[in-house]
Amino acid sequence: MRFGLVDSFARPHSYLRVSVTDRCNFRCGYCMPVEGIVWRRREELLTDDEIVSIIRLFVRHGVTKVRLTGGEPTVRPGLVELIGRISTIDGIESLGLTTNAYDLERLASPLRDAGVQVINISIDSLRRDRFLAITRRDHFDDVMAGIRAALAAGYPSVKLNVVVMAGVNADEILDFVELTREWPITVRFIEFMPFKSNGWQKAELYPYAAMVDDIQTRYEIEAEEVEPHAVARTFRVSGHRGKIGFIASMTRSFCAGCNRLRLTADGKFKPCLFSVPELDLRDALRGGATEEELVTRIRAALWNKQREHPPMELLQQQEGRSMVEIGG
Ligand code: SAM
Ligand code: SF4
Repeated sequence: MRFGLVDSFARPHSYLRVSVTDRCNFRCGYCMPVEGIVWRRREELLTDDEIVSIIRLFVRHGVTKVRLTGGEPTVRPGLVELIGRISTIDGIESLGLTTNAYDLERLASPLRDAGVQVINISIDSLRRDRFLAITRRDHFDDVMAGIRAALAAGYPSVKLNVVVMAGVNADEILDFVELTREWPITVRFIEFMPFKSNGWQKAELYPYAAMVDDIQTRYEIEAEEVEPHAVARTFRVSGHRGKIGFIASMTRSFCAGCNRLRLTADGKFKPCLFSVPELDLRDALRGGATEEELVTRIRAALWNKQREHPPMELLQQQEGRSMVEIGG
């Protein structure tokens, strides 16, 4: 029976983000701590079998949308085969992937054939020099080729994720909107969030309201109806094939409707992106816990989920994982 994982605020959780690796070939300053991270050993990470069985368990209990992330998911050996296995799980209505697209020219079609329906690509600058400064890797051309390959591969949904930072790339917002004129994509502008050692400063937060003001100086935009659990507000842009969206986690928190659950590459369950306590599903599974025991623990973690995340100034001081270790 499917009865839905419900937290203490009586909200069903139907969306699971699964990090398949904590490794990344980019070094985006807002995501990867300046000192880097110590990558976990292979045996600390979930195996393919463990990932599949944990996803199965969540799907049996109400999850219908699954998104794979990282680190950079495409650096995990055997990703295409893993996705092929996940896509056969009965009950998944949407299977997505978030990637930096550096290898998407090669992988866009195989990933689509394996069952990925929704592809989110992160790109924060359309200028080669700035792209290099943000990611600390010279892969701008590869990423642009990856985006084109995703468009050609026939994904029902291609989204670009842009973390907007004042004094870094906020002056490119209109250039990104311009991409939606011809490309049937959704460009999503994300407010810069504080995580462990990512150098976040309030002065670099470029708020949603300012983004909308900038866009309205040149474009006519119209808000779309969004489903109750959506994290992004989306808008049509008059005359454009694509759309734009905003993820305003800092200035317009959407905690009240959030139905996202997270699983880290080393098998820790996080009921909230910003939750510090974690539930160790990997060790429970390796210790022989039954499905009933796992579900009881997951429910307890959800019951204790914070009503909303702390304000940004406190998040900055919070001990926790860096974003590269959570996956977004
Ligand atoms: N490597 C993949 C990628 O870059 O798409 C997947 C993992 S990455 C952690 C997932 C998403 O988190 C990306 O869209 C990235 O831009 C976003 N992200 C990382 N750090 C962030 C931060 N400090 N604030 C807002 N978004 C962030
Ligand atoms: Fe890597 Fe993605 Fe983080 Fe950039 S945003 S460092 S590509 S995990």
